[in-house]
Amino acid sequence: MRVITIANQKGGVGKTTTAINLATALAAIGKRTLLIDLDPQGNASTGLGIDKDDRATSSYDVLVERASITQAAMATAVPDLSVVPSTLDLLGVEMEIAGAGGRAYRLRDALHFHGMEDAAFDFVLIDCPPSLNLLTINAMAAADAILVPLQCEFFALEGLSQLLETVEQVRDTLNPTLGLHGIVLTMYDGRNNLAAQVVKDVRAYMGRHVYETVIPRNVRVSEAPSFGKPAILYDMKCTGSQAYIRLASEIIQREREQVAA
Ligand code: ADP
Ligand code: MG
Repeated sequence: MRVITIANQKGGVGKTTTAINLATALAAIGKRTLLIDLDPQGNASTGLGIDKDDRATSSYDVLVERASITQAAMATAVPDLSVVPSTLDLLGVEMEIAGAGGRAYRLRDALHFHGMEDAAFDFVLIDCPPSLNLLTINAMAAADAILVPLQCEFFALEGLSQLLETVEQVRDTLNPTLGLHGIVLTMYDGRNNLAAQVVKDVRAYMGRHVYETVIPRNVRVSEAPSFGKPAILYDMKCTGSQAYIRLASEIIQREREQVAA
């Protein structure tokens, strides 16, 4: 089981879109995949077609130790893809567990609870809220590696150093083996000269950490969630879906290299 946390404290950079479509692409190539929605907004759950009324157990229940991951996981329309949905209850979790011992390890403990072996996921992806709060810290403490979506816009790199500092702090305190899996550039618009410059700058600054695959801005990708479907199911041929499929194979390739190294 590999746990990858999708984090960036900026909102609207493509975290949820990446979580949904990367999870779908991994499942489509036969990897048993779980997406954990840790954003109170629940956009990943909605985008996977899970109605608000059907979220009987959620990531909140997992964090307050009221349910196990396997109890909270729900099947999706994608074979081999399950989701632990989120609800607005998550907004209160920080206060509820603030004083509790091991509060940053709630998710990690849940993922290593015995019984999880039976569920046997190859990949667990965690979709984070746009904040470096206790939810994101739980996701970082539970992860093998972080995946950072950066939107191809002028301020793309703004905030990245703060994010990487937080990763460093988590490594020093909670999770010494936490890695940076990679940075994925999102919402690339080829007609925009600035976007090309941003890609160049980010590659110059972050080097091999940046995936080859760049996700284009694509209207089909933004329409798909309103149908409760990953873009890859809604329109597999569109440029956005194809890019996420390439990203999944690049990620699997990197995993192989890391295992070999
Ligand atoms: P975050 O989770 O970081 O807040 P989202 O994944 O929700 O970001 O994306 C923010 C908005 O941008 C959403 O409306 C989403 O549909 C849209 N979006 C994300 N990626 C793309 C893309 N490749 N092409 C077009 N729209 C996109
Ligand atoms: Mg989101």
